[in-house]
Amino acid sequence: MSVGVNALNLVKLARYALARWVPGGSRFCEICAHQVRGFMPYRDGRRPPLMHALQVVGSDVTNFECPRCGAHDRERHLFLYLKASGLMEGMREARILHFAPERRLSKIICATRPLSYTKCDLYPDAPDVLPVNIEAMPFADNAFDIVIANHVLEHVSDDLQALREISRVLRSGGVAILQTPYSATLRHTWFDPGIIEPEARRQAYGQEDHVRLYGQDIVARFASTGLRPMVRSHAELLPDVDVRKAGVNAAEPFLAFEAP
Ligand SMILES: [Zn+2]
Repeated sequence: MSVGVNALNLVKLARYALARWVPGGSRFCEICAHQVRGFMPYRDGRRPPLMHALQVVGSDVTNFECPRCGAHDRERHLFLYLKASGLMEGMREARILHFAPERRLSKIICATRPLSYTKCDLYPDAPDVLPVNIEAMPFADNAFDIVIANHVLEHVSDDLQALREISRVLRSGGVAILQTPYSATLRHTWFDPGIIEPEARRQAYGQEDHVRLYGQDIVARFASTGLRPMVRSHAELLPDVDVRKAGVNAAEPFLAFEAP
């Protein structure tokens, strides 16, 4: 057994080394600005059967992690979206709140020298990240211009309360970026508070730490809290991006919303 595991680890290490160091790669990581030979898969690169069957739009599990910097596909995609939408350019004048901040994307945002940059997480893993429950934030009304929650809401118990809080802490006209996986075929967002055990969640929602599976009503559900949809597709915002080269999922839209 251990021989098998070690062999698997060696294969993984070799794949990373090859992708990272051998020159001439045809992929390009926007986050670390390096050419690589390939992006590494999430886990074994296979989606849970439920996610596959329900055509869940989310991470590209086969082209997931950059072998050089570790950035995930959703970080690369969000970075491209932030640039293409003009939000990145405007960050210098902005007060930004970032939930579950991705380390590499955070560095890039920090480098824009925003007016303020507040990083928080329910369970912080770094001293500069505040412990904050997204459903009950300790911030004043209208305190921020931009809120980023990239793949967060699928883990939150009461997403509508979280969205009302996001709306409250944003100034009128402020922007929330709420990238969240959803099923392209499920008509209605699906959850049941009795589904608690990790294995039950994996069976019901496709991942053991998800608490619901959003459906085609995701934008309407978010908008029911008063947020105004400014959703754009990949084709609209990033028509010239080679998705294979950039390692991003073209089916994932830019889920941006404006505070009322
Ligand atoms: Zn990278």
